[in-house]
Amino acid sequence: MNKKEHIINGVLIGIGVGVLLSPTGDKWMVHSVFSVAIPVTLGALVPDIDTEFGKHRKTLHNVFVLAVFAAFPFVYDNLQYVWIGVLTHFVLDYLGSKRGIALFYPLSTDEWNSPFGVKVTNRFASIVTILVTVFELTIGYFVLIGSTVAGATLPLIG
Ligand SMILES: [Zn+2]
Repeated sequence: MNKKEHIINGVLIGIGVGVLLSPTGDKWMVHSVFSVAIPVTLGALVPDIDTEFGKHRKTLHNVFVLAVFAAFPFVYDNLQYVWIGVLTHFVLDYLGSKRGIALFYPLSTDEWNSPFGVKVTNRFASIVTILVTVFELTIGYFVLIGSTVAGATLPLIG
């Protein structure tokens, strides 16, 4: 997808996760939304930096890059939530775009996609983005509910 769609996706995911983490309807929910939405949106922009160097949809669109961003908060106590933006970027490119991404680059240059994807220039790209975003938030909701029921510490904040 294009930058516009990734910004829409990142902002909506950030707002959704912020609300899910603190669904109080008060100032704490607003605080949660800002503390999550900004790093998630920044993370959603990271993978497409490979349009400027490396190979687009490969260099920064693989599981190894995601692993680095997921591990970063645990190692440096910094960049919490950025990995969510990177992950949702991958999901949007995988599910929403016709081309897909090279999930295992540099081990493999094969690009993975879904049969539902559209070209980034398609006039329905924004609608597909919203549908993928709703799907991602639904999965996120059930992950949060599952971790709450299991009494597990939420792995979102590192
Ligand atoms: Zn991308």
